[in-house]
Amino acid sequence: MTMSNKLKTYTLHNYKTIPQISLLSDEMIEAIEVVGHVLPFKTNNYVIDKLIDWSQIETDPMFTLTFPRKEMLQKRHYNAVKKLLDRGADQAALGKKIEEIRMELNPNPAGQEHNVPEMDGIKLKGIQHKYPETILFFPSQGQTCHAYCSFCFRWPQFGGMPDMKFAMNEADLLARYLLKNEKVTDVLFTGGDPLTMSTRILSSYINVLLQPEFKNIHSIRIGTKALSYWPYRFTTDKDSDELLKLFEKVVKAGKNMAIQAHFNHPAELKTDEVMQAIKKIRATGAQIRTQSPVLKNINDKPEIWAEMWRKQVDLGCIPYYMFVARDTGSKRYFELPLDKCWNVFRRAYRQVSGLCRTVRGPSMSCEPGKVQVLGVQEVQGEKVYVLRFLQGRDPKWVDVPFFAKYDPKATWFDQLEPAFGKERFFFEEDEQSDLI
Ligand SMILES: *Cc1c(COP(=O)(O)O)cnc(C)c1O
Ligand code: SF4
Repeated sequence: MTMSNKLKTYTLHNYKTIPQISLLSDEMIEAIEVVGHVLPFKTNNYVIDKLIDWSQIETDPMFTLTFPRKEMLQKRHYNAVKKLLDRGADQAALGKKIEEIRMELNPNPAGQEHNVPEMDGIKLKGIQHKYPETILFFPSQGQTCHAYCSFCFRWPQFGGMPDMKFAMNEADLLARYLLKNEKVTDVLFTGGDPLTMSTRILSSYINVLLQPEFKNIHSIRIGTKALSYWPYRFTTDKDSDELLKLFEKVVKAGKNMAIQAHFNHPAELKTDEVMQAIKKIRATGAQIRTQSPVLKNINDKPEIWAEMWRKQVDLGCIPYYMFVARDTGSKRYFELPLDKCWNVFRRAYRQVSGLCRTVRGPSMSCEPGKVQVLGVQEVQGEKVYVLRFLQGRDPKWVDVPFFAKYDPKATWFDQLEPAFGKERFFFEEDEQSDLI
């Protein structure tokens, strides 16, 4: 019998015990050591044995998603850490430098701290409430992941920067907050990865929401990478059956149970393990919606997305979002101009059936909302980006097309300027137009 479904975790401290590691060059090992001190790194035996193609590690997207590469840090940052490591600097000096570099990498993008609500004078650090209908809930036990994605914007939550942790222990506070905010229909459990929690703890949060006084809550969503990085969570882990029963219970209570699964590449959808896990989840009546950022060196070709969406629909999943990579961490290595993101999207979108076209994107989750790049056009002789809000801090902004000056280099919303010589975007105007 194979024991591959028994979890083995690897981090900077023990990755050298991975059998395949002998295939790496000295340069690649050095990069793991240096970059791994700044950007937290963690993987497991499923990713190592089933997802990475070890015959082409120089370019394999699953390897790149898993292991730090040299180019993920700026040269000056890389050299500074390397120098300290080479001369065997003490922990204090090393720690200080690492902290300094992390602060330069925009550890808390999109003004997330602005979305933390207050109740009775207490800041609810485990909740973000930005859009009226949906709250994000960060259960404190779920602030880690089965494996870390090297591009992840949540990295400060993992690597021991406790004051950045959005954590809240009590299901009780969540419940009280929801009772006071009747417009909320969706609770989205997020992290880290909430499915790193035991089913018992997860149930303690979810069961509350199934009580009759929470009839306003229509959907319970869980954002997770477990399907991709640890599908045994749904099949052979010791509390996997209880987890499936929990999903079933939510569905039986008349609520929508939605798994928001994070897949970056078709390779993640091809193992027997993931296919079996998807089947089991679907059999509970839960839905699986899929999302991913578009990333250079990983999935920056339309064919990859078309294949991914088709495969997802074949397996009964619903393509949901294509994101633009956040302006944080190793973004430099993964970022693509907005023009390129849109071209990947539309060239993929046009070759798939309508059942795949539930997907929306490319979308930037930025301070005013989720901004979709609808495309590049020429209007009255000026080349512009056509944009719209998929979600807005003010719901009135949603679905109103607006324009930004075309900039071939821009990779994020804050680099764009209003088109047609305007000073401000429409949502920044004091007196907003009649249109909204
Ligand atoms: C994306 C997001 C949501 C969920 O938005 P949907 O479009 O409903 O999936 C909720 N809150 C925040 C802060 C978000 O960024
Ligand atoms: S699974 Fe999500 S939260 Fe976890 S490391 Fe990956 S992108 Fe970040």
